[in-house]
Amino acid sequence: MSGSPADHRNALPPAIADGPLDESLVRVRRDFHRFAERGWMEVRTAGRIIRTLEALGWDVEYGRAVIDADARMGVPPDDTLASELQRALDQGADPDLAAELQGGFTGVVATLRGRHPRPLIAVRFDIDANNGDESSAADHRPFADGFASANEGAHHNCGHDGHTAIGLGLARVLAERRDTLPVDVRLIFQPAEEGVRGAAAMVAAGVVKDVDVFLGCHIGFQAQRVGHVIAGYRNLLASTKFDVEFTGRTAHAAMAPHEGRNGLLAAATAVQGLYAISRHGDGETHVNVGYVTGGEPRGEARNAIPARATLRGEVRGSTNAVADYMFRRARQVIEHAAGMHDVEFSLDVVGRSPAANSDQALAAIVSTAAAEIPGIDEVSQSADFHASDDVTAMMVAIQAQGGHAAYVGIGSRLDSGHHTPRFDFDERALRIAVDLLASTIDLIPAESAARLARPGAPGSARG
Ligand SMILES: [Zn+2]
Ligand SMILES: [Zn+2]
Repeated sequence: MSGSPADHRNALPPAIADGPLDESLVRVRRDFHRFAERGWMEVRTAGRIIRTLEALGWDVEYGRAVIDADARMGVPPDDTLASELQRALDQGADPDLAAELQGGFTGVVATLRGRHPRPLIAVRFDIDANNGDESSAADHRPFADGFASANEGAHHNCGHDGHTAIGLGLARVLAERRDTLPVDVRLIFQPAEEGVRGAAAMVAAGVVKDVDVFLGCHIGFQAQRVGHVIAGYRNLLASTKFDVEFTGRTAHAAMAPHEGRNGLLAAATAVQGLYAISRHGDGETHVNVGYVTGGEPRGEARNAIPARATLRGEVRGSTNAVADYMFRRARQVIEHAAGMHDVEFSLDVVGRSPAANSDQALAAIVSTAAAEIPGIDEVSQSADFHASDDVTAMMVAIQAQGGHAAYVGIGSRLDSGHHTPRFDFDERALRIAVDLLASTIDLIPAESAARLARPGAPGSARG
């Protein structure tokens, strides 16, 4: 269902402010879904976010002002950034904004002034698509309804298109009631969540430095029915993502194999060794190798020793300590697999996020708000996340400065699991999320005095 890119050249953003909120949320979500953009390359997406927020009267910052260049992880190579920039322009990206966002600076932060500056509330939305191709099965709704990804290799298979729409919907709702907005609100639109690459660069740029209360949400984790809400996930897993290159020496496979040094075998040894790392008694741990390739680049030779191999892996843990243990052991395995086959190796960390828990006192406020939202009929105070999300980089930064953070689950039936080609969610979840976040923001100033102690921050509970 990919129309020609020219169809959308210079097309105006589908306005979040037009028509009933439910309908505009769906329209906006489907636009982002169709023009899916992977991490650090969300040039069209971020441009639309910026123009929409400006039109709604928010103060908007973006690009290098909200992304610390040196703290970015897993930025794609320059040729990929360049071709994706051209693709975004062909698909209607604003060229003036693209100049500021290109090269891996696709973050956006917006602020709306309320009657009091504190407690400052921030809400984070991730905006990136994932690697992967979307299903073109006739019964896959995005395909059947004409909004499946037009971009090969990029698919919103984690619901971040929905999160982005929720963020803009919240921006609309708060702007409509700005005269009675009790406190300042900041919206953070974060690139490159997949691979846990983007949040740390926004933290390093200072976007959460003065935040007192922090909220974020995810669709469909441990809540797979519309109307079910999880007020604050716990046990978000720490994770480290890494790329490994093995480099040996090629040689004739029969006459001189002893002169070769086999990178492919080193990778194979490493894969077996990585999965053989012992579990840790102090917490949940995981290891995965998602991709291995190797061989000689030219000729597809079966008759030469393969010098090179590439491996992409990750480890996770329910605490930073057990996740660090997994990464330390992974590094040993890789190093010694290389040594065993007498090849060189490089190991690059391309994503990293800490473990985190939602503050249950803040989750209790979310629960209170949820009780009044039409369409919510079940509220779980908490649930284990069973995955990683680099929202944790923001959560722990805010908790370390005495603030409070909660990551909220928005229930939805899923057509198939996150990160799969047939992923889709129930769009009724979008309106529920907007209403829940808006109501929680309304409650926080009054509730924070009673429920959220913040030592050393006089005035934080005004309002
Ligand atoms: Zn994901
Ligand atoms: Zn996600």
